[in-house]
Amino acid sequence: MSINLHYISMLLSGLNLFILVWLLLRFLKYQSRGIPSLNYCLLIMTVGIVFGLAATLGLLLPDGPVLQVCALVMMASSLATNTFFALMVFNLAESRRSFFYRHQRVFVWVLLALIPLYLTDGWHHLILDAVPKRPGGFGFDLVYGPASLAISVYAYLVTALAVVSVMQAEKDSMLQKTWTRLAVLGATVLQAIFSGLEQMFPLFYELQISLFTTWMPMAVISYLFFGYLLTGRNTALDLVDDAYVAFDLNGYCVDINREGTVFFQRYCGATRPTVADMQRLLEVEDLPGYTGGEMRLYDGEVGNYYRVSTFELSSGINQRCGVGYIIREITEFVDQMEALNTIATQDPLTGAKNRRYLEEHAPAILARARKRGQPLAALMLDIDFFKKVNDTHGHPVGDEVLVRLQQILQANLRENDIVVRYGGEEFLALCEGLSWAQACQLAGRIRHHIEQTAFETSAGRLAVTVSIGVFAGPPGEDDTIGTYIEGADEKLYEAKNSGRNRVC
Ligand code: GH3
Ligand code: MG
Ligand code: MG
Repeated sequence: MSINLHYISMLLSGLNLFILVWLLLRFLKYQSRGIPSLNYCLLIMTVGIVFGLAATLGLLLPDGPVLQVCALVMMASSLATNTFFALMVFNLAESRRSFFYRHQRVFVWVLLALIPLYLTDGWHHLILDAVPKRPGGFGFDLVYGPASLAISVYAYLVTALAVVSVMQAEKDSMLQKTWTRLAVLGATVLQAIFSGLEQMFPLFYELQISLFTTWMPMAVISYLFFGYLLTGRNTALDLVDDAYVAFDLNGYCVDINREGTVFFQRYCGATRPTVADMQRLLEVEDLPGYTGGEMRLYDGEVGNYYRVSTFELSSGINQRCGVGYIIREITEFVDQMEALNTIATQDPLTGAKNRRYLEEHAPAILARARKRGQPLAALMLDIDFFKKVNDTHGHPVGDEVLVRLQQILQANLRENDIVVRYGGEEFLALCEGLSWAQACQLAGRIRHHIEQTAFETSAGRLAVTVSIGVFAGPPGEDDTIGTYIEGADEKLYEAKNSGRNRVC
């Protein structure tokens, strides 16, 4: 029975050792962050590992000087654990008024001062008198030397100071939350309970410190890194204007931020959406294959634009476990871009398109005509004796004529035709699908319409005539928009030379 207990204690010791090494390796990199409580926490782990190794080794060793050294190492690490524990708590509690917080170095000095005593114990036996093996040869008992009682009292005193420090923790310290105070208090009390149990059941001796040194760092590290820092991240996530949502592989929402709940409440009527909701919003069937894009969602009459970015959630090494979305409202951005685009491609006076627009769209227009095998028509229009209008009535009246002319042009063209203000009072109309004959007919109609129209201006009604050059036909391989423009321009020149107010 007793052998079985020792095997169990050995197993647990080994397990604790493993956890400690794993924790230490995992969190050692944070040592450089300069958080004193965390650094003491890492020290406790290191000392705990030393203790665990000595305890486990001691279980297996025979009677002799090496076992004696193991026992001394255990006792020294026990004292070091108490010391580092207290220092960690002083720093967590941040009770700056506290004498112990301000003079915490004293505890390190005491520890350092006691080390020679442990090192020379082989000669004076002040700490450890003997380490007899238990019957059966597994495990050992300790016969304490005269100084060990004083050291034990000191160790308990240090722990008690830590408890007092928790009680006096500053309101803004890391121990401000009740549960963290309880965790720290619990760790301290647990250690005391184990110390008592150890007197009655030897099994607890091996476990006491290694258990305590595992449990305590876990509590502190969880708090510092999964509590403190995670709280920061969550708060930040809630502060941003983007909606964020994450789904597991079954399509259930596993995480969502504040803006996310607002967004999905607005468009899906649910604060915790499913993948089906997301699919409906994005109008995509294969959501896992969706790599992001833009979408327009209607809130009443108003359409809002959103940009959706997607990312995969993974656990371990490339283990896909879900998918997340960041949804950013870009309505203002899209509106501004559209406004800019209008400014860049429109003539501010007449509202006709400008040459920049023509340059941008010409390749697409030509490609479309070629693909459909349809003709393309260019009408170049120039007002006759426009200088006279300017000279007689002034430039502002000339401007009014230009605006009115553009309106007449637009009224005579189809929706897909493009009107470009090509020069001062020269307009170019590009009509897709119009044959030469149809284009000439259209030009004639426009010319006639203008001739018949009395242009209402601030200087009264004015009569205006125009000359129009027409060039039309299916685009050949080498033809560009330039070919059509030059062609129409040549014809316009001809119309001007042969008397004006005509179509050529
Ligand atoms: P033609 O019959 O030969 O075309 O005679 P024209 O007087 O119209 O001669 P031309 O086409 O060379 O003259 C263009 C005039 O258009 C010159 C310029 O003063 C006027 N113009 C150009 N842009 C504007 C504008 O934005 N507003 C006004 N009011 N006048 C403009
Ligand atoms: Mg003119
Ligand atoms: Mg001109």
